[in-house]
Amino acid sequence: MKRALTGLTLEELGALIKGAGHPAFRAGQIHDWLQKGAGFEGMKNLPQALLGELAAEYAAQGVRIEKTLRSKLDGTEKYLFALEDGNIVEGVFMRYAHGNTLCVSTQVGCRMGCAFCASGLEGLVRNMEPGEMLSQVLLAGALHREGQGRGVTNVVLMGSGEPLDNYENVLRFLRLLSAPRGMNISLRNVTLSTCGLVPEIDRLAGEDLPLTLSISLHAADDGRRREIMPVAKLYSIGALIESCKAYVKKTGRRVSFEYALIQGVNSTLEEADALAELLRGFQCHVNLIPVNFVPEKGLTAPGLGGIERFQARLQEKGVAVSRRREMGADIGGACGQLRRRHIENSAN
Ligand code: SAH
Repeated sequence: MKRALTGLTLEELGALIKGAGHPAFRAGQIHDWLQKGAGFEGMKNLPQALLGELAAEYAAQGVRIEKTLRSKLDGTEKYLFALEDGNIVEGVFMRYAHGNTLCVSTQVGCRMGCAFCASGLEGLVRNMEPGEMLSQVLLAGALHREGQGRGVTNVVLMGSGEPLDNYENVLRFLRLLSAPRGMNISLRNVTLSTCGLVPEIDRLAGEDLPLTLSISLHAADDGRRREIMPVAKLYSIGALIESCKAYVKKTGRRVSFEYALIQGVNSTLEEADALAELLRGFQCHVNLIPVNFVPEKGLTAPGLGGIERFQARLQEKGVAVSRRREMGADIGGACGQLRRRHIENSAN
């Protein structure tokens, strides 16, 4: 598979261009086109010979938008991104008062096997390359930067994949994303979501990046968490919370916890109490998500009343809690289901 040029830093691109006997300033031109989301065919001020040489070895973006769904309700857009090898991943573009957020995928599939998640149904297909991650942001940014558009201002690593299971590539992606001549997105505007790989969280703390860490907790006791998240068999909740506290201490950044409410699994008031007890004295934030129905899994969210009672109970106990707003309700296909439907339809 051809690697994406977007995975190279400006310096590396410079070395490549110079090494091939072309003037160094071409690297800056190519770099700036790539940052605008352009492919080779869009690079108007470059010699065809150079572009031909590059195209023989590299893809420009390594990703293209295969399909877009637009919500009439709130402007949310969902993309199917096609990769060079024919794999498909999803991205979601959401408009908020504070900016435009893109939800990025970090792996094709996932090997974490969470009970409620569609992305892991067929296991891990492969890790995504740093350029493939960046290009999702570049392409979505290009679509929204016209006129007064702000492009993409915030990134959440909450698409398919477990970011900390593709550690090196994700770290490189974060450095590319925040490069001053590139998207220049401050890592303060980036949230990395993980199912809780403790050694990698500890390693991430040592990188000293101003990211927001978000932990997919989904249960407050080990027994229940092991039933729905296989990763919980490796790391206890106690070890996970210790690691989060160390992360906050080291980086000065806050940690948030995601809790997908699943009827009959983790949504009783006793479970709210256990969650409040677990997080007592820890400056953090809980984000409640009514679980998105995945037909293959058959898990459903509690009714609105149940969700509100769970939230109120946490609030009573002093936990900072919010409920995730449902975006793009009219275009459906939450959490990996767009891709699955697309693959199923293509197979038929
Ligand atoms: N692997 C990472 C990031 C990807 S998933 C992680 O586990 O955090 C992003 C978030 O969506 C996670 O909190 C995940 O648990 C949640 N999620 C996955 N499937 C879901 C579903 N069907 N309904 C609600 N949330 C879901």
